[in-house]
Amino acid sequence: MPDDRSPPPFPAPFPLPPQGHPTEVLDGIFWLQMPLPFALNHVNLWVLDDGDGWVIIDTGMSTDAIKHHWETALTTALAGRPINRIIATHFHPDHAGLTGYLSQLVDAPVAMAPDEWRLATHISTRSPAEFVAGQQAFFAQHGLDQETLDRLALRGNVFRERIEPIVETFESLAEGDVLAIGGRQWRVVTGRGHSPAHACLWCEVENLLVAGDQVLPKITPNISVLWAQPDADPLTDFLDTLNTFAWLPPDTLALPGHRTPFRGVPERLAELAGHHEHRLNAALAACVDAPRSATELIPTLFDRAMDDHQIVFALGEAVAHLTYLARRGYLLASDEDGVRRYATERPTISLADERKQPS
Ligand SMILES: [Zn+2]
Repeated sequence: MPDDRSPPPFPAPFPLPPQGHPTEVLDGIFWLQMPLPFALNHVNLWVLDDGDGWVIIDTGMSTDAIKHHWETALTTALAGRPINRIIATHFHPDHAGLTGYLSQLVDAPVAMAPDEWRLATHISTRSPAEFVAGQQAFFAQHGLDQETLDRLALRGNVFRERIEPIVETFESLAEGDVLAIGGRQWRVVTGRGHSPAHACLWCEVENLLVAGDQVLPKITPNISVLWAQPDADPLTDFLDTLNTFAWLPPDTLALPGHRTPFRGVPERLAELAGHHEHRLNAALAACVDAPRSATELIPTLFDRAMDDHQIVFALGEAVAHLTYLARRGYLLASDEDGVRRYATERPTISLADERKQPS
């Protein structure tokens, strides 16, 4: 670590840029906030000055509003120079939804992790019937009622509506890769759990991290088991990622996928681990008296009413916590009448103790 490293002069308290307009917030780094049609009503994209052109990090969800903003930005703030490369941090539609669209529009190559590309391709190429069948089988196994299943079925392949056809060829991003963009060197640091191989970009000299959704301020990255990967254990992956990022200097400036830039990534990850430990113990306590399904645990884990969009995330997150506990012998899973329920075997869990266990 260079001795002359100092925090970049990012203006506090990080005023929001106007949506749809690339706004230079550090030398050569433009914050481009786009609108989302959800309770989480925005996503942060980043445009980097690459000397003779631009590099775009994340493209936003496939909506008319975001397409319109891109078309305007490309003919105004970004006009006159080519897009040299598009980087997708991870496969989620709010980040990668317009990757294929934009790549074609500006004739730029796409760089992303192969595991992210595979999952985006797999889910977005399911027919509505395939998508609904896969989702229904998984959610029914975890106890979701027929009425909600029927409502979700009406949405078809909602993923495909939010993500344009992903590119057919891409440059592979992997942990440790170094990308020279403008005058900066950015190293790929891979996070897991929120998505299979989430690419964060770390600039050591300036102590900057393009964090995507791997670590967010104030909100908790969703950690979900997906119907397309029902045997995954994403909470283990996410908690293992604490080690991946623990070496980052505490004054690292994180440029996140949602909300505003912040410092203190290691502390934020420790807070997130505490949050999950709390939820794990809440899940164990709820399964002491009688076996519970993931759906039955949603009110225990989330103290708010939910629309269908949120129920999908909440159920995936509940399954992630139950899977984590069952794999370690804290819960015993059993299937009856087609529904998986979990009974407590050991009533409390400490993540500090878990970390001492040989893996
Ligand atoms: Zn995400």
